[in-house]
Parts: sequence; structure tokens; C-alpha cells
Amino acid sequence: MLSETRTRSRRLSGKVQIAACPQNREFSDRQKRFYAKYASVTFKTLESPLFQRFLDWIMRRENIEERLVASVQVELFPFRGENGKGLAGKYNSRGEIVIYPKRLEFCRRLVKDFEKEMVYFYIKARAKATMIHELLHAKYSNDEAKVRRLTRKYFTIFARHEGARNVNADRIVDMIFMQ
Ligand SMILES: [Zn+2]
Repeated sequence: MLSETRTRSRRLSGKVQIAACPQNREFSDRQKRFYAKYASVTFKTLESPLFQRFLDWIMRRENIEERLVASVQVELFPFRGENGKGLAGKYNSRGEIVIYPKRLEFCRRLVKDFEKEMVYFYIKARAKATMIHELLHAKYSNDEAKVRRLTRKYFTIFARHEGARNVNADRIVDMIFMQ
């Protein structure tokens, strides 16, 4: 499946960037350190050669033109809408994909239920699922049901490709897709 990509340049590699840190008085230094670390894990996950190759493969398979994605912005701080609901990511009409972190409080609860290593797994899995989801929105703009179905499908293919799954990993993935 992935072997056919050979050495061609990755379409989205180099387009991923971490957003500049805004002056934000809402967060303590400890929170800022957490979110900086979170953003760096997300960035590395999205720029990893294996995942970049996989995104290329999706783009060719779904016929998603490279020009539809201008940049991928990894935000430092979580999105908080008017209704208090979080947001994992978005794709806008300028072709910008924006990826938001999960809140620190949520990750703290996760540490209690799982081992710390699984929190990293959660952050990486969520970054990949969000990236795939928003990339599909570049093509299937308002068809949320289709985007969700395809996200799950492609995420599962990639997870199988990466190998090494266990019961906790499956629970974490279920959590991500139930949100
Ligand atoms: Zn969506």
C-alpha cells in the first residue's frame, strides 16, 4: 500500500507549523509548559515521514489537490467556543488546517485512568485523526457524515500499519472517535 509512493516529495511536509505564542494571561506557566510540550508532540507526529507518506496516499486516493491545503497550523492553546465546547480542528476557506490541543484538565484525568505513556498515545492518535479529518474536509466540505466515516476508515488502516495495539490503545481510540 505505502510502497508505491517511493521517493517523491511529500505534499504536506514543511507546511506544518506551530502557531506563534500569543500573549496569554489566561494560562499559568505550568499550563504554558504543558501546552508547549503538547504542540511539539503534535508537530512531530504530523511531520513524521511515515504519516506524511500516508497523507500522500490518502490525497492520491481521494483526489485531493495539494493546493487545497495551504498550511497546517498547530495551535498552542485549546479552542473554547461560546458554548464551552472544545474543538479538535478546522479547515477554512483559505485552505488552512488548524489543530487544537485537548485541555490540560482532560489529560490529567487520563493519567489517572491510564498510564502516562497512554496519554502520549492519546495525543498522537488525536493529532492524526484530526489531521485526516480536516484533510478530508478540504474535499468533502460539508458532508460531515462522510468525513467521519472516511476518517475512521483511514485512521484504522494507518493504525494497523503501525502495528502494536493493545486493549488500552483501543479504548483510547474509541474515546477519540466518540467525541
Ligand atoms: Zn468535521
